[in-house]
Amino acid sequence: MQNTVHIIGAGISGLSAAVRLANADWRIHVHEATQQAGGRCRSYFDTATNLTIDNGNHLLLSGNRHALAYARSIGTEAGLVGPKRAQFPFVDLATGQRWQLDLGDSRLPLWVFDEARRVPDTGLTDYLALMPLIWASTNKLVGDAIPCKGVLYDRLVQPLLLAALNVDPPEGSAGLAGAVVRETLLAGGQACRPLIARDGLSAVLVEPAIKLLQDKGASVSFGHELRELVMRAERVDGLKFGGDDGVAIGPDDAVVIAVPPRSAAALLPGLKTPSRFRAIVNAHFRFDPPQNAPPILGVVGGLVEWVFAFPQRLSVTISNGDRLVDMPREELALAIWRDVCKAAGVAGELPQWQIVRERRATFEATPGQNALRPGAVTAWKNLFLAGDWTDTGLPATIEGSVRSGNRAADLVLAAKRG
Ligand SMILES: Cc1cc2nc3c(=O)[nH]c(=O)nc-3n(C[C@H](O)[C@H](O)[C@H](O)COP(=O)(O)OP(=O)(O)OC[C@H]3O[C@@H](n4cnc5c(N)ncnc54)[C@H](O)[C@@H]3O)c2cc1C
Repeated sequence: MQNTVHIIGAGISGLSAAVRLANADWRIHVHEATQQAGGRCRSYFDTATNLTIDNGNHLLLSGNRHALAYARSIGTEAGLVGPKRAQFPFVDLATGQRWQLDLGDSRLPLWVFDEARRVPDTGLTDYLALMPLIWASTNKLVGDAIPCKGVLYDRLVQPLLLAALNVDPPEGSAGLAGAVVRETLLAGGQACRPLIARDGLSAVLVEPAIKLLQDKGASVSFGHELRELVMRAERVDGLKFGGDDGVAIGPDDAVVIAVPPRSAAALLPGLKTPSRFRAIVNAHFRFDPPQNAPPILGVVGGLVEWVFAFPQRLSVTISNGDRLVDMPREELALAIWRDVCKAAGVAGELPQWQIVRERRATFEATPGQNALRPGAVTAWKNLFLAGDWTDTGLPATIEGSVRSGNRAADLVLAAKRG
């Protein structure tokens, strides 16, 4: 008889667990509270711009090997596109200076030895000063591990770590920052090619997973919020959903909880989880990017941090965006548009726009919050946790989500064997 697993939450963590278990021939039931899969990584049709947009621009790097393997497993790796070489154009809005960081295509960070490829006005010793990050512990602050000032910091370390940690880098966990640096910058250009789901996050990372699951006989229920776990002895014995809908969990069945930390804590009282979050602000402008526009442009010295060029659209990401969540929307759109004009070299009145402010985009990647991340194993033998906020060793990213989903799936398989 086929084994059965219930996956709660259809974000990337839940979907990656579901796909892995479906491929191991388990019968899958996915339960998602909202009407759409994808969680914090989703697309939708936006009437303000008349375009399908993502809730947030998501950047992957070619070194995100679990995320890439997930895309491969659902047949959409080719939908993650980017330049052939790991090149990152930057502009400093304060000075107008432009440069390109060229990380090449090696497996080693040889670019640091080449003055023409590294950040302008930096020397080898500046890069060597970043070494303590590589072995830093998670409870150390970035600000205590490396110098958080100077040209290299302003032009590379700050933008990179801000994007990865979603906190002001000096207050971030050095161990989490180190994990990102080890898997990307230190692994050479081969691991740093930027990749974007050009046709949208849902089309590339979400819908194909749902289709694969359904083709394998899985059920995917939307509007199906788990309200209570029924426990008996050391196992989950039943699931209670909204609308008095209940599911009995058989002696060989398993459950994976892949919901955000607040929902997980409500379902499992006493569970320690991160409790502080940071916002990410995205702005989308209906505007044809100039023909030579790079797919992604790093910006320093302004309000915006990254400008993404999509067909018919210029989009902006601002991390650690709590200071912007209460700003009047039109004022914010205008301020961002001014930066976009300077950065992308375009001009014009504010085009059709949309601002998406994800207030709880990620948990705060600080040492204190990182210490609250639980592992995937629980006190109940058939219940496992997944989510970017579980203890993945990475900040809250797609790569971390996929790893957490894979890990939960592997534990389900191991519990069955044991
Ligand atoms: C604006 C923004 C930009 C980002 N940029 C990047 C980036 O550039 N690169 C990158 O790698 N990562 C980025 N991230 C992070 C990435 O999106 C997340 O790490 C990832 O999507 C988290 O997936 P998850 O499955 O762990 O959680 P979620 O996506 O939160 O999924 C959890 C799901 O559980 C559902 N749920 C909740 N409670 C219940 C319940 N009781 N019953 C049933 N279902 C429930 C939710 O509705 C949701 O669908 C970004 C995030 C945001 C918000």
